[in-house]
Amino acid sequence: MIRSISDMEVAGKRVLVRVDFNIPLDESGAITDDTRIVESIPTIMSIVDRGGVAILMSHLGRPKGKPNDKYTLRPVAEHLASMMRMRGVAVNFAPECAGPVAEEAVAQAPYGSIVLLENLRFHAEEEANDPDFCAQLARLGDMYCNDAFGTAHRAHASTAGIASHFAARCAGLLIMKELEYLGKALANPKRPLVAIMGGSKISGKIDVINALLSSCDTILIGGGMMFTFLKAKGLGIGSSLVEDDRVELARQLMQLASEKGVQLIIPSDAVVASTFADTPDNHVVSVDAIPDGMMGLDIGPDTQRAFAGVVGSAGTVIWNGPMGVFEFKNFQAGTRAVADAMASATATGVITIVGGGDSAAAVTQFGHAKNVTHVSTGGGASLEFLEGKALPGVIALEA
Ligand code: AMP
Repeated sequence: MIRSISDMEVAGKRVLVRVDFNIPLDESGAITDDTRIVESIPTIMSIVDRGGVAILMSHLGRPKGKPNDKYTLRPVAEHLASMMRMRGVAVNFAPECAGPVAEEAVAQAPYGSIVLLENLRFHAEEEANDPDFCAQLARLGDMYCNDAFGTAHRAHASTAGIASHFAARCAGLLIMKELEYLGKALANPKRPLVAIMGGSKISGKIDVINALLSSCDTILIGGGMMFTFLKAKGLGIGSSLVEDDRVELARQLMQLASEKGVQLIIPSDAVVASTFADTPDNHVVSVDAIPDGMMGLDIGPDTQRAFAGVVGSAGTVIWNGPMGVFEFKNFQAGTRAVADAMASATATGVITIVGGGDSAAAVTQFGHAKNVTHVSTGGGASLEFLEGKALPGVIALEA
């Protein structure tokens, strides 16, 4: 069983919280998107409002195990402090994440306040899940809470090894929400259960497609990976993205789908261009008529309509990966159509779940982040969860 922070007795306790403050910064080190900080606030407030100290630990970027000013969490502490000022909650920054400096900062912190520790990845021991480092971190708190779903698929010191030092360990509100929505979608979905898979390649998503073949009623394929399926069907794909070494696998997946009675729907039309560029010089073709030398960069309008129809009549939809090169304005219509269909379906009672990464970026870009049931905060973690893999950062919380 995994307990939630809201069920824990936190008054007079120092609660070590693993948050995901791995936020984007620009060249000058300024924060360009504070969504992850904003999303962590309910868990933090649940601790400080009830008279605990929230001791926050996170990584930022890839400093490769050494201190590096480019990746200091100090600006994040300043940003959090400005957000907390109106709530009258003090935020202190500890310039070390473990050892005497961190211990002193924690000892000084009054109840009802926040301490943010310096970047965990300034120590190689973090990613190595080093037992001594886990013990050093554990000394900083009376209780452990993990709210960083984005790193829950990694067995690092702050996400895995540390948990065994605490009898009182729990999940934060973000992880609880992920487990609720992703867990329910797999274990007890409102049917039909539909998965939409896109993105560049099949290779990174074989395991998840395989797992979804056992749980879904319908799987829609879009993005670059559709051309490997089209090739497996014996169609010409021009110069589209293809993984020649996965054509046989695509054939097997289609075979498996038909044996299991799962509808695997491959696009019927595509938007093609002669170069990989954001060009208005493009046109729609049927997938059995992709000209030589042309590449498919988006799904076409017939496919958009077909996919929207499937989404609208689903019970639950899980979406991972864009339908086309949505970074290019000329090739974002397919991804936008799926985002729109997800939003409309949600309004009629369909449960809609968006995996992290590019599909989460797309629903946000198209203004639908609030119009779907759940947007996962972890791309890799949500894929591994859907594959049925146990996430180290989640199992470590089991009491
Ligand atoms: P992934 O990281 O595998 O989820 O892939 C995401 C990337 O796939 C995005 O950057 C898209 O631009 C890219 N993508 C989607 N459709 C296509 C396509 N038809 N050809 C090439 N790249 C694509």
